[in-house]
Amino acid sequence: MKIIQSVSEMQSFANSLKKQGKTIAFVPTMGYLHEGHLSLVEIAQKNADFVVVSIFVNPTQFGPNEDFEKYPRNFEGDVALLEQTKAILFVPENTEIYLLEHLTFVEVNSLENLLCGKSRKSHFKGVTTIIAKLFNIVKPDFAVFGQKDAQQVLIIKKMVEDLNFDVKIIVGKIIREKDGLAMSSRNKYLNEQERKDASVLFESLKIAKKMVEKGEKNPALVIEKMEKLIQTKLTAKIDYVEIVNTKNLQQVKILEGEFLIALAVKIGQTRLIDNLLVGEN
Ligand code: AMP
Repeated sequence: MKIIQSVSEMQSFANSLKKQGKTIAFVPTMGYLHEGHLSLVEIAQKNADFVVVSIFVNPTQFGPNEDFEKYPRNFEGDVALLEQTKAILFVPENTEIYLLEHLTFVEVNSLENLLCGKSRKSHFKGVTTIIAKLFNIVKPDFAVFGQKDAQQVLIIKKMVEDLNFDVKIIVGKIIREKDGLAMSSRNKYLNEQERKDASVLFESLKIAKKMVEKGEKNPALVIEKMEKLIQTKLTAKIDYVEIVNTKNLQQVKILEGEFLIALAVKIGQTRLIDNLLVGEN
């Protein structure tokens, strides 16, 4: 498998592909890969001649008290998983991505302060900055992101629109474990009891879906039911459960048309997110 570490080598490689008229699909990740990531690589492969997967645990998207240092890393395991694909792996060094005098950041105002942005203050500023940088390095025609991070998808689409990036954003569905827990690199942190309790995130979304299907129009009642269920798990502490408009992430007052049910819950010390898109066109 081709592994590229330097920024200039990645840029020259992308340029040479472009010269040959080849297209590039890009899957940015923080590594510790699982089937969710691989599903995005598969989508990428269907859409372009070459696929680039990046692994970079981006320090600027972690808050001071978050898990940057202990974020799970397993380079050999990641390479073994990607070996089954034809992807090119880009693994830049932190020191080359963020030079000491790095001063430039990208912000998508308002959207970045809602949902996860309320408790993770500069998280999305870190995300948009690294994605903008990676787009300039990898030069993709397509970039594939997971619906698991619904707010991230919306913010990146807005950044692409506002800053005229010539990149088409493709969204892959959420890949889940057997009990419904959304796959996540952070699931590794969960102990046995926490792992059991963690399925409550998806269970609460299923209950919400049922209520909506039965005609419930009041978001407060749905949220209350979800919260009550989550609170039955001793290890669970709710960060937020919200039902929002899919374009501006503002809370909806009535459940009709398209909306996003999104939640973040701490299971023990591990903060997990999940969501359900309802009424998607
Ligand atoms: P991460 O490595 O967690 O930063 O995620 C890299 C990409 O994989 C992001 O676009 C995520 O939304 C996506 N992703 C993470 N978990 C899943 C999942 N369970 N299903 C589908 N995509 C996922």
